[in-house]
Amino acid sequence: MTKSRRPTAHKEYFYSLPCEGKNQYSSEKEAQDAADYHMLENMNVELEVYQCNICSYWHMTRKDTSQWRKEMPKQ
Ligand SMILES: [Zn+2]
Repeated sequence: MTKSRRPTAHKEYFYSLPCEGKNQYSSEKEAQDAADYHMLENMNVELEVYQCNICSYWHMTRKDTSQWRKEMPKQ
């Protein structure tokens, strides 16, 4: 008998958000430029760029440090 099925947490979970409606950039530089532009317009917003595992384009995501901390699970 084989017991090979055990649940493992996959990293993909992190990127499994749908990217529809998000801006897509074909390069990191392009995404970073756009993020910089947005940050100039709105000083309270910090944006981070990342390459998407789903569409392999670059997206930007909001890095709201104050809210970020609240959403982090405390252990
Ligand atoms: Zn994507």
